[in-house]
Amino acid sequence: MSKILIVEDEKTISTIIAFNLKKEGFETDAAFDGVTGLEKALSGEFDLILLDVMLPGMDGFEILRRLREKSRVPVIMVTAREEETDKILGLDTGADDYVTKPFSVRELVSRVKANIRRSAVQAEAQTAPAQNGDRQLFGPFAIDRQKQAVYKNGVPMELSQREYELICYFLETPDRVISREELMEKVWGYEYYGDLRAVDVAMRRLREKLEDNPAEPRYIMTRRGAGYYLNSGK
Ligand code: CA
Repeated sequence: MSKILIVEDEKTISTIIAFNLKKEGFETDAAFDGVTGLEKALSGEFDLILLDVMLPGMDGFEILRRLREKSRVPVIMVTAREEETDKILGLDTGADDYVTKPFSVRELVSRVKANIRRSAVQAEAQTAPAQNGDRQLFGPFAIDRQKQAVYKNGVPMELSQREYELICYFLETPDRVISREELMEKVWGYEYYGDLRAVDVAMRRLREKLEDNPAEPRYIMTRRGAGYYLNSGK
């Protein structure tokens, strides 16, 4: 049974979340301030952490920063302020996902499930035995699926897990235009709830990392009004 830590100072919200997660078969625990939240998060006994941003004691960003020094446990940030979503998306905060208050409980539960699923798949991939032909190439890039690493001209790139998964998804069908909705569903792993900014921000960051000149991309292409595609050059 998966165990979720809810770090949230508003007790009503915390209770509602716990109630709904339990209904879905999850075990839950709660922390109502930042310091306790960090302590519990570091215990290693949770499969996912729901982390409020505004907390007494220590804010969610600081908790996440300290947690990431030691742990890759999936974290979904919960924020009450629209402007913070840009910070969560734009910086390398190490958050796996976010929801904005007020959120629908159904959406939250769906994201919790998707993130736990992803993290289980990753763990499995990392322990899978090495296979021949694991390196896949495109342009100056090489991908080592065993190590989940991407190299540009032989130099390993610093990519987030999501960026790596995006590249893998595009590689499955080079030159096919993929809609943002499809990316949201297949790479993020949940239904489309109307906010596709996460996709655009992730694609922009990926482009900045992959392209020699992000203003004139050669690999990650945009088809206006339709989506993105990986240009194989063929
Ligand atoms: Ca709060």
